[in-house]
Amino acid sequence: MPIFLYVIILFLSYNGGSNMSVFGSNKNIEDSIEKIIHDNEDKKVTVNKTIDNKFVYLEFENEDKVFSYFVNVQTGQSVDFLSFIKEEERSNFLNKINELLYLKYPKFIADVLSADSVEKTYQIKDNELVIYYDHYTIEPSMNEKLFLVVNYNEIKDYLDFTFLLSADYQNEDGYNFSKDKKTVALTFDDGPGGAKTNEIVNLLAENKAHATFFMVGNKMENGASVIHNVLKNGNEIGSHSYDHKNMKRQKTEDILTKEEQTKTIYHDITGEDFIYTRPPYGSINNSIKENLDTIFITWNLDTEDWLHRDKNYIVDYVMNNISDGDIILMHDLYDSTVDAVRELLPKLYAEGYQVVSISELASLHDRTLEPHTIYRSIKRNSE
Ligand SMILES: [Zn+2]
Repeated sequence: MPIFLYVIILFLSYNGGSNMSVFGSNKNIEDSIEKIIHDNEDKKVTVNKTIDNKFVYLEFENEDKVFSYFVNVQTGQSVDFLSFIKEEERSNFLNKINELLYLKYPKFIADVLSADSVEKTYQIKDNELVIYYDHYTIEPSMNEKLFLVVNYNEIKDYLDFTFLLSADYQNEDGYNFSKDKKTVALTFDDGPGGAKTNEIVNLLAENKAHATFFMVGNKMENGASVIHNVLKNGNEIGSHSYDHKNMKRQKTEDILTKEEQTKTIYHDITGEDFIYTRPPYGSINNSIKENLDTIFITWNLDTEDWLHRDKNYIVDYVMNNISDGDIILMHDLYDSTVDAVRELLPKLYAEGYQVVSISELASLHDRTLEPHTIYRSIKRNSE
């Protein structure tokens, strides 16, 4: 049926519906609704209903985009959604929305979306309020739709209207890694690197990313607080030997003794054990592989950050070579590496990559990692 007819019928059914008693003789509201529907006749009407006798909610859809209108039942005026937030609670409401934005999105996105000036579309659903962010400029530029889903339970104290909420409704905000997205592991060797490691940990947290730090045993005792900070933020730590000597040039029994020593130091600090080992220089032979009871993780993307000490080189190298399942090697020792991470994480996010620890990469790609095996990358099983 032509949209024109569809709109007329919808409008008629609206006039004849149970809403009549609510509006009484207020002709303003009918005129407002008529005008809104007329202004949107190129779109499909998806909702037209009265909420809590307070407002009529009109929703349209066109090419996957949602358009919404709120008509105040008392005045008949089309108003902003925020007018149905209790006046004294408006700043609390906006603070709550911003809090949820920072939970869901990396900081470089949330910083932009939380600005008052960003245009928003509020969509009323049965159990949740969905906020679409319409006009934005985010660098690096994003392809994905930006929106926030807010369970009414989280904002009910601020709303000036009531709603029926399903008892079994589960809230889904916050950030979760997805098996459907491209996923890579970022790894940092030779630390703990003091303030530089902590800076990297902050950047990872701001960007909803995790990494694996391969640390040197004889540096750990002076780095206990850094180690705690790394773990507290959802990152992982592996062994990078006790003294960073090439394992191939040592007796196997010496390597085993020193690995035990590293394990003990780490356990004393964290109460945990290593799962992974990265031999210094990636240098390993069959005897080490067979005798050391660990999973060996090397890399397939070497940024050579220690050699170039150049932020732009590192960023370009990674962005030009990255693909799903890669393991990237860096060192948490240099300012240029910290600067590269600051620029790289938003770029990777914008390109659709999630950046995770080794364990998360294996789990998201449905891979089980085996001891006495060397992994240079962790691709999906089908590849
Ligand atoms: Zn190293």
